[in-house]
Amino acid sequence: MWKGASVTYRAAVVGAGPSGLYAADALASAGAQVDVIERLPVPFGLVRYGVAPDHFSIRSVRDTLAKVLARPEVRLLAGVEVGSDVSVAELVDAYDAVVLTYGASRDRHLDVPGEDLRGSVAATDLVNWYCGHPDADRATIEAALSAATSVVVVGVGNVAVDVARVLVAPASRLDATDMPQHVLDVVESSGITDVHILGRRTAAHANWTTKELRELGELDGVDVVCQPVELVSEPVADKLDEEDRVVHRNLEVLHEWSQREPTGAPKRIHLHFHARPHELLGDGRVETVVVERTRVDDDGSAHGTGETWELPAQLVVRSVGYRGLPLEDVPFDSRRNVVRNEEGRVVDESGAQVPGLYVAGWIKRGPSGIIGTNKKDAAATVAHLLEDLEGAEPKGGDGIVPLLAERGVVPVGLEGWHAVDAAERSLGGTRGRDRTTIHERQALLDAARSI
Ligand code: NAP
Repeated sequence: MWKGASVTYRAAVVGAGPSGLYAADALASAGAQVDVIERLPVPFGLVRYGVAPDHFSIRSVRDTLAKVLARPEVRLLAGVEVGSDVSVAELVDAYDAVVLTYGASRDRHLDVPGEDLRGSVAATDLVNWYCGHPDADRATIEAALSAATSVVVVGVGNVAVDVARVLVAPASRLDATDMPQHVLDVVESSGITDVHILGRRTAAHANWTTKELRELGELDGVDVVCQPVELVSEPVADKLDEEDRVVHRNLEVLHEWSQREPTGAPKRIHLHFHARPHELLGDGRVETVVVERTRVDDDGSAHGTGETWELPAQLVVRSVGYRGLPLEDVPFDSRRNVVRNEEGRVVDESGAQVPGLYVAGWIKRGPSGIIGTNKKDAAATVAHLLEDLEGAEPKGGDGIVPLLAERGVVPVGLEGWHAVDAAERSLGGTRGRDRTTIHERQALLDAARSI
């Protein structure tokens, strides 16, 4: 292994989210010098721009990841886009090994008529907006939110739960978060009273985890409405209930809610199963979702029954999963939307390994698991990388830093990130909060360069 060896290898990690920083940590622990290259001017990926702002303990993973960035072997090169500022081929030339961990940032489509009406948005875009992502489309999301009283969220995963909760959460819960002030103002002044969550299969097939589901029932001023008819017993669901502890606990929560009397709270979250969007209707903007009743076969697949009903909605959020995007010159499996790989080693279509190129996280295995899943996943990739490098001659040099200088690209380093961090804390302090996320790219760059 590298540790204690007389040679020093230099590796590049593309992406400063949890997978990238866990990979950097494993590489640094093996004695390598690591450049972490990040497209955005700030690190932490989905921990900053995906984990819901009111999930304080999950977001605190950031402190662990910050320690990786502070390691002397690790160098942050943020604000550098692979594919435009530097190519993958140039990275492979400049480093002994390159680990791609750029995630799965794109939304997936429903493929139903009316999906492109105004007011129909992807959860990825809404989440980006409420987390203060520099690429968020403020105008579209804020216009959709300001017109909404009734919302339909399609999909029954943890992102759907996050979105539903944030849209109706009481101000007392959101005030303590680091959401940008304009986001807080819009959410807190919105007229949303009802959020309908649609699952196309049975309640037992929902992907959410029990802790996240249960939180919906703990929101002040919000009733969760789950009619007993949504939970009718059927063989395919009963089998899952028996075999899977998480499913069993989820169903317990749902059954308990189905017996609750509504308290008359001002806001409601309604849960529907066997329900998939058939069509979105409206004059220029969405007004109604036509929902089709489904039946679920013994193999778990959902089929339309032709029976439809309607839900009023001025905002429709499709929360049906994320997908990864290809990167130029990197073999891509377009069926699974991941970089083609075998246990983290990038391979071409014939299965031959692409020398020096590795992958970890969502772009390796698809968008699944919790943050901690990425630690094991990154360590497994790095173990293969170390095996492959054993005995190789280090390339030497200073990675892509000279190339960036030639091209006039000025990366944000650790000191720049610390300056952004200080600026966000100080902005938060003006409103009695720990921090407020700065959301504009230029403001982030200005803060980073203020040192
Ligand atoms: P997900 O768990 O894959 O859920 C996607 C949902 O969309 C599923 O219910 C799926 O139903 C449904 N769906 C897919 N295509 C559909 C269609 N055409 N029509 C209707 N429904 C459709 O994805 P996610 O919620 O985006 O979460 C991504 C990952 O991040 C997960 O691993 C999640 O646990 C994690 N995450 C964790 C947390 C947390 O721990 N607090 C928070 C957020 C996200 P089918 O099952 O029928 O396909």
